[in-house]
Amino acid sequence: MKQSAKDAIRQYKQERRSEYLEKHRIRERERAMWHRAWLIAILGGKYELCGCKNPLMLSLDHKLKDGKAHRKQIGRDPNRMYTAVLREGCPPKRYRLLCMSCNLAVSNYGEKAVIASINEERRSTHE
Ligand SMILES: [Zn+2]
Repeated sequence: MKQSAKDAIRQYKQERRSEYLEKHRIRERERAMWHRAWLIAILGGKYELCGCKNPLMLSLDHKLKDGKAHRKQIGRDPNRMYTAVLREGCPPKRYRLLCMSCNLAVSNYGEKAVIASINEERRSTHE
């Protein structure tokens, strides 16, 4: 049976799909690195509690505790969140930079405990 033009196009697209998805993934990762670099530059150059600067560890903290609602509105794609925050002008009243570890620790143990723990660690390593 002869393949119709439509089938040929469909087959071509299917064969190229994984290649396209891989390119898309790489592009999105690069875009995320740009967004992180901008956010770090605008919001103080380092993460607030521990002072780490590694862009791969960036975790945006919603100071007003509206992160869940904001994610619901924006979606779970980090690039969309970064773009939204950058468009908003990164108001420091609303956002701050934490590393992923600190953000997780703050939500699990509270900010005071995290700060105390970081200070304790610094004291013990400088003795
Ligand atoms: Zn940290």
